Amino acid sequence: MSPALRLDTKQTKEAEQFRTAAVDYSDTRRTTCRNTVVAQNSGRILNMKVANRIQKLTVGILWRADDAVDSVFYRPAIVKALRYLPRYWQCDFARLSGYLDRQWQTGFWDVDGEDGVIHHVAVGPPCEACGRRASTLLIGRMKDWDPTFPNVGDMWDEREVELCDWCGKEFCQEAVRSEDELQSELERVRKRTVSWRWS
Ligand SMILES: [Zn+2]
Repeated sequence: MSPALRLDTKQTKEAEQFRTAAVDYSDTRRTTCRNTVVAQNSGRILNMKVANRIQKLTVGILWRADDAVDSVFYRPAIVKALRYLPRYWQCDFARLSGYLDRQWQTGFWDVDGEDGVIHHVAVGPPCEACGRRASTLLIGRMKDWDPTFPNVGDMWDEREVELCDWCGKEFCQEAVRSEDELQSELERVRKRTVSWRWS
């Protein structure tokens, strides 16, 4: 065997070893890459699930915190004592909770309607009776909620009133058949829900 041929053989073997090593490395890298992609996707899904839970938990905590604040600040005696404040508590934690719920689409504020449609509940404007608490009740205009609801032929076919929980319990819809009667009833309710005393 000539030196030149020996050299070629050695180079050939080295080249073969190098090629085999390269293929092994390539396969390892491909497998590693595939595992990395699977791991990355699994990690991403896991992260999304964790993030969704944290978001829903945050929305729920704000809602419960609002309930706790409301139970104190919405007491009639407290409302009356603080009636000179330019702006009163308007379920602000609940509003933030609802806002984040819409942004994150957690579904926390969604409720199943009788019409089979999911409704997104929201905190309303200031109560029309006391003007201090946020409204959570909507009275009147039943056709907006139930198209099959029959017209009763009075103002409630068109008029609606938004009230807070406290004023809603005092308000007597049956006693109201005109706008004047409505204003009188709102005034009566306002006096009761901001002059309540511990007894
Ligand atoms: Zn009210």
